[in-house]
Amino acid sequence: MKLLEFRCYHCVHCCFFVDPSESPILFDDEKEMLENLGKNMGIELRFEEIIQGLWRFIIEGFCPFYNIRTRRCNIHRTKPLACKMFPLLLNPKDGTIVVSRACEWVVENWDIVTSKPVFEIFPQEFKRAVEAYTKFLQYLRK
Ligand code: SF4
Ligand code: SF4
Repeated sequence: MKLLEFRCYHCVHCCFFVDPSESPILFDDEKEMLENLGKNMGIELRFEEIIQGLWRFIIEGFCPFYNIRTRRCNIHRTKPLACKMFPLLLNPKDGTIVVSRACEWVVENWDIVTSKPVFEIFPQEFKRAVEAYTKFLQYLRK
C-alpha cells in the first residue's frame, strides 16, 4: 500500500543541478550564513541577486554542501528554507508555492499529490513554506 505522506528517498536530485537557474533561492541572512560557512570550509560560493534581498545560490552539479557518500546534506540543520521546504517551491516572481516535479517521490506519487491538500501530504515542508512565504512578504514590504 502506498504511503499517503511524503517520504524523501534521499536520491540526489534536489542537491544536483544541471541548470543553475533552478538552484535554491536564499534570503539575505541565509546568503550571509552560507558565505560564512563557505569561508570556514574553504569553498567559494556563487550567488546572483534576483530582487533586492533575494538571491539565487548558483550551483552547477552537486551542491558543495552535499555529502555524496552518505547522500545527506552536510548542513542539514542550518540549510536554507528553500531546501527545507523542497519539493515545495516558492516562486519569487508572484509568491506562489508549487510542488516541484523534479522530485522523484512527487513524480511517482502524482496521483496522491493531486488528490489531497498539500499541507497533508507535505506537513513539515508546508510549515517551512509558510515560513518562507511570510519572510518573502516582509521582504516585499521593505
Ligand atoms: S544546502 Fe544541502 S539540501 Fe540544499 S542543495 Fe545543498 S546539499 Fe542540498
Ligand atoms: S528529489 Fe525528492 S525524493 Fe529525491 S532527495 Fe529530493 S526531495 Fe527527496
